[in-house]
Amino acid sequence: MNGVSQPIVKDVVLVGAGHSHVTVLRRFGMDPIPGVRFTLISRELHTPYSGMLPGLIAGHYGFDDAHIDTGPLARFAGARLYQDEVVALDLAGRRVICRDRPPVPYDLLSLNIGSTPNTGSVPGASEHAIPVKPIDGFLGRFEALKARVLARKGRTRLALVGAGAGGVELLLSVEHRLRREVTRAGFDAAALSFALVSDVAEILPSFPAAFRARFQRILAARGIAVFSGVPVTRVEPGRLLLDGHAPVEVDEILWTTQAAPAQWLAKSGLPLDARGFLAVDDTLRAAVDVFAAGDTIAFATRDLPKSGVYAVRAGPVLADNIRRTLTGRPLRRFRPQGEALYLVSTGDRYAVGTRNGLVVEGAWVWRWKDWIDRRFMRRFNELPAMAAPPAAVSPAADQQALKDISAIAMRCGGCGAKVGASVLSRALGAIEPAVRSDVVVGLDAPDDAALVDVGGDRLSLQTVDYFRAIVDDPYTLGKIAANHSLSDVYAMGGEPQTALAIATVPYGLEAKVEADLSAMMAGANEVLREAGCALVGGHTSEGAELALGFAINGLITRAAALRKGGLRPGDALILTKPIGTGTLLAADMRGKAKARWVMAAIAHMIQSNGQAADILRRHGVHAATDVTGFGLIGHLVEMVRASNVDVTVAIDRVPLLDGARETMALGIFSSMQPQNVRLRRAVRELDTVARHPRYPLLFDPQTSGGLLAAVPLGEAERCVAALRAAGYAGADVIGLVSERSGALEPVTLDLTGERLAAALAQAARPPQDDLKHGLAFALSKAP
Ligand SMILES: Cc1cc2nc3c(=O)[nH]c(=O)nc-3n(C[C@H](O)[C@H](O)[C@H](O)COP(=O)(O)OP(=O)(O)OC[C@H]3O[C@@H](n4cnc5c(N)ncnc54)[C@H](O)[C@@H]3O)c2cc1C
Repeated sequence: MNGVSQPIVKDVVLVGAGHSHVTVLRRFGMDPIPGVRFTLISRELHTPYSGMLPGLIAGHYGFDDAHIDTGPLARFAGARLYQDEVVALDLAGRRVICRDRPPVPYDLLSLNIGSTPNTGSVPGASEHAIPVKPIDGFLGRFEALKARVLARKGRTRLALVGAGAGGVELLLSVEHRLRREVTRAGFDAAALSFALVSDVAEILPSFPAAFRARFQRILAARGIAVFSGVPVTRVEPGRLLLDGHAPVEVDEILWTTQAAPAQWLAKSGLPLDARGFLAVDDTLRAAVDVFAAGDTIAFATRDLPKSGVYAVRAGPVLADNIRRTLTGRPLRRFRPQGEALYLVSTGDRYAVGTRNGLVVEGAWVWRWKDWIDRRFMRRFNELPAMAAPPAAVSPAADQQALKDISAIAMRCGGCGAKVGASVLSRALGAIEPAVRSDVVVGLDAPDDAALVDVGGDRLSLQTVDYFRAIVDDPYTLGKIAANHSLSDVYAMGGEPQTALAIATVPYGLEAKVEADLSAMMAGANEVLREAGCALVGGHTSEGAELALGFAINGLITRAAALRKGGLRPGDALILTKPIGTGTLLAADMRGKAKARWVMAAIAHMIQSNGQAADILRRHGVHAATDVTGFGLIGHLVEMVRASNVDVTVAIDRVPLLDGARETMALGIFSSMQPQNVRLRRAVRELDTVARHPRYPLLFDPQTSGGLLAAVPLGEAERCVAALRAAGYAGADVIGLVSERSGALEPVTLDLTGERLAAALAQAARPPQDDLKHGLAFALSKAP
């Protein structure tokens, strides 16, 4: 999808989107090495920047201010982004073992996976304390804590165990935020109490005395009790047992004591220090083809604090050493700074700083820290514009041709790569297929799949789909392509039987081609197997870019076949999945979509329509189609024309994927959008409705979209409830079918949603209510 024209010769796999790897990605984005492909595997898509995490907890920053979005960054670097958790390494086979996908091969590996809390050493801590690390999950844990505090009307005793800089700073931020939230909710903030507990005699043990003294003063002024020199011996529900001190009664415990390494490293075969951290040399190398940086490493010569400062500082050296390894040059040494500058905030837009024994404090120190942190984040969240690949253009091309060619260069894959409806019907108009009596549904009345009578009880359903890679990950592409192809069979109410694959893989080294092909087919086969559809053959060829498709055969009885032309006046229209994949994938190609939006869109694309088809059938479905390249309106118009009815669509009830409105608002459309928009002539009162912000999304081409179906109005709400319960969270009733009117345009967009709401309310009313309502209405009209 990155348009890699150069054959891949080396695969560099980065595990963890930590503070060092973000710099590696940025640097290789600025200066790529042809033929070198990066793959980032990370559990989280948004890396919390440790320096801003306390400010985020305190409420001074929003989520996106304090997180690096790996989506645009990976796109900028031309890297494939796999959201997964690495659970083991196969060093001999040079493969990374992930929790939810096939092994990922590498030529060079780098680990930047942070650390975990050391709760295991104190009985009860793992069960009853809230770990702060890994920091990427802490935000969710803090939100849950906040909700519990508010549920107790503020009456909460909170203790934080661990008095390093991270712990002290976090406690002050939590204190500031909780007091504000509790006061805002109308409760008494004095009902909150806070304590800092540590086994060391003095808080902030690795800092100068003057720095410690300032924090002791600040903690005292904020009413935070400090228990130092008292190791926690056991954690029980509601209390901390301390060595040499009476137990401390608590409602919530935060745990920030010394970091521990990820447990799976122990079995990795890589060299470890006594505590289990990765032992690296001073070039950040753990093995000849494995680098590592950040909290997860340990140097034999120097014990570095587990601090983001060092992970950030290692980034450029790591990037340089990866480049040097790939180009056969000697490696550089990493020289961590002797005395780092520490700016530690106090939660209330105030901070204390220290370097070389000098200590300063004030609101200005916080503003200084804020300026440094925001500047750091801009380097990753405001990336330089991506250069368009140079195109070889014929000197014979005129201005219009040049414009068209540049549009072609940005064409989308997936169903955005489908040929437009009118182009297709013009091209096929001249074709006269052979006439056969056993073709029940063919090109003369096209539907989601052809229906062929093969002589048994059931008809054969036949359909084919094929598209260019819309995602860089071959395994995910396989899943999407198989799912998309199966949808035509489900839309016709059929049962998938067999599949033939057609795949194109880019030219390259045999091992690389094999790895991509096997990952792609593994993804596809998982989906096909789950559908009970046997992969029975296929064809593979080399080509310019990765592409995959399937010809699927299905089975159905003649009476059960769902046709597009089955809409009946009085039906409700249901859409089973949200729309917006076209604009989101186009934005992703340009590095303008947030990783969480793209991954959520992918999750919808790999959700099967099989169960939805069953649920629709149980609720009396009359007609269905799958929403793909022609967009919602395009596929709706196909149904409306075939059924000779009118429809009303409540525009605000059409479910949308997260981020689709934002990317549309940026003016980013799929390359197929302009062709789809031609169908606006089917929509009434265009002057008014086209100004609605959701209007363009109705034409957005979908890849592996949901089913658009018609069920009797009285079944609609029950059907949607069943769909949602089955995991189609976005499913909704979006419109109504009515008799064909005399109007030229069959589609009305209902901007208020009142007509649909009234019809659903009417349908939900018990029959005796209808009688009463009818009687009251009749009486009110009586002369
Ligand atoms: C509350 C708090 C405040 C802090 N404040 C500061 C501060 O102000 N300044 C400072 O310098 N340090 C601070 N620290 C310390 C800092 O957070 C860590 O030192 C830093 O995050 C370590 O960075 P890293 O790059 O090693 O890994 P991380 O930033 O932890 O990144 C690790 C990445 O690896 C991914 N990952 C982990 N395991 C796997 C796996 N198995 N498979 C795939 N992906 C995986 C994670 O999802 C994540 O993306 C603070 C810590 C805490 C708890």
